[in-house]
Amino acid sequence: MQRSNGTEPTTADKRNASTLANRLARVYPAITTALKYEDPWQLLVATTISAQTTDENVNRATPALFGRYPDPDSLARANPDEVEQLIYSTGFYRQKTKSIISLSEDLVANFGGVVPASLDDLVTLRGVGRKTASVVLAEAFGVPAIAVDTHVKRVSARLGLTTETDPVKIEQDLKALFARKRWAKLSMTLIQFGRDVCDARKPRCGSCPLIDRCPYPDKIL
Ligand code: SF4
Repeated sequence: MQRSNGTEPTTADKRNASTLANRLARVYPAITTALKYEDPWQLLVATTISAQTTDENVNRATPALFGRYPDPDSLARANPDEVEQLIYSTGFYRQKTKSIISLSEDLVANFGGVVPASLDDLVTLRGVGRKTASVVLAEAFGVPAIAVDTHVKRVSARLGLTTETDPVKIEQDLKALFARKRWAKLSMTLIQFGRDVCDARKPRCGSCPLIDRCPYPDKIL
């Protein structure tokens, strides 16, 4: 597979990626989303609500939300004011309410209320971007997909895995480097690693298991 700039990663590049993935897999052997959900639709909604807040905050709000609206059909017909109150604590509640009602409407209207296991289909839902779609594909369906968020973006750049800044191009670069079987867990692993070790402001390079393979010039030891 080619990178976003049309070049092919070398064998050495792929070996390096494999080594990084192996080391991270040892640190996070059973990584999975911290969001609580019982079906793909709940994960889709929870992931949408998780923007700009913590997974813990989302998990505190979703039991009441899913208790009141247990499926796409009921949320599609929901009173927005009531939904806003239920997810108020997660912030940006007006936009999030709009998104989760719209995506539920689209699911009912175009997919019989069933979350599709395809990136192309998922991104047709209003309020669902590539990142959210990839999280749902990887987590709920085990479909190979790489979600690029701010942590994935930062860690990938520091590790020299991409020189791109556009998430779609970063996704392509990572797909070119890592074996397909790695994709589903890669984002979650990089996100957790970005939170725990490769912090945006103060990376803990002194205790980083990847330090010998990291070209980032501003390491903090
Ligand atoms: S050495 Fe530092 S900058 Fe590089 S990946 Fe580890 S924590 Fe991040």
